[in-house]
Amino acid sequence: MANASPLTEPTEGADDRVIPFKVGEAAVRGRIVRLGAAVDDILQRHDFPLPVSNLVGEAAALVAMLGSALKFDGKLILQTQGDGPLSTLVADYSAGGGLRSTAMIRPGAEETAAAAEGAELHYLLRKGHMVMTIDQGPDMERYQGVVPLEGKDLATATVNYFSQSEQIPTAIRLAVGRVQGPDGEERWRAGGIMVQFVPGEGGDRERGEASLMADDDSDAWNRAATLLDTTQADELLDPTLAPERLLYRLFREDGVRIFDPVTARAECPCSKSRIAQVLAQYDRETLGEMIEDGAIEVSCDFCRTVYRFALDADGQTFKE
Ligand SMILES: [Zn+2]
Repeated sequence: MANASPLTEPTEGADDRVIPFKVGEAAVRGRIVRLGAAVDDILQRHDFPLPVSNLVGEAAALVAMLGSALKFDGKLILQTQGDGPLSTLVADYSAGGGLRSTAMIRPGAEETAAAAEGAELHYLLRKGHMVMTIDQGPDMERYQGVVPLEGKDLATATVNYFSQSEQIPTAIRLAVGRVQGPDGEERWRAGGIMVQFVPGEGGDRERGEASLMADDDSDAWNRAATLLDTTQADELLDPTLAPERLLYRLFREDGVRIFDPVTARAECPCSKSRIAQVLAQYDRETLGEMIEDGAIEVSCDFCRTVYRFALDADGQTFKE
């Protein structure tokens, strides 16, 4: 905790940052995120129906909070699969701040997806699973947790995930919206805040053993979770309300300490050579079916960058 600093004057210009914080002396840890250009970039590249944009933006804010907590050079991947109008919602955050988020609409289900209210998870994905993967790099073991998708929205489903898969009491609020900037242009913004009950290493209690929570801890946790639930969407999105000020507004009675912020930016590691490696796994017949006008065009599901592979004169190999 060497980098802990007492809460002083809030700073403005807080977009695309995740701020870790701690409430009081109890084992209540949290993160708050405010995404501006990062989420606007992600959502502008797609032409999703509004409810799908909302959900994809929420997923971006969520993985920024969860992924920025990783202490190593890894990646946190959130994936939900369902049998509703959306087949998949996937987002990831890489150490260093790279953020991606996207969704796959089932072919023909565009209108059904557009009819959802807000960012209804249970309508858009219906029945399915939520998978959280921590990828620690090529030579390290992957950690993966899987739970059934439960809850009306992404925040509730994630609280259920932590309860079932990790036994960590969690409270989360997420918000996405289009907000008019000083130049009159509307841009996407996303925000999120979460708290978890996480006793430190050592001691008698393992993390997440809620039944062994001391009374003081239990009170502090319940208070923090209740206060978090009062957070409004506009508080999470308002570019003129610094996240530090919101934290102070929520937790001033117990005291709140903030830690060094972590950045987030829209970044996709796709490249022509990576797509070429994927294409190389298909047989010639399959590739033949993908050819249009003498070339194969592949667009990245995350960032919509289009890669074009033109055929050589022999009609069988691809030009670089
Ligand atoms: Zn890409």
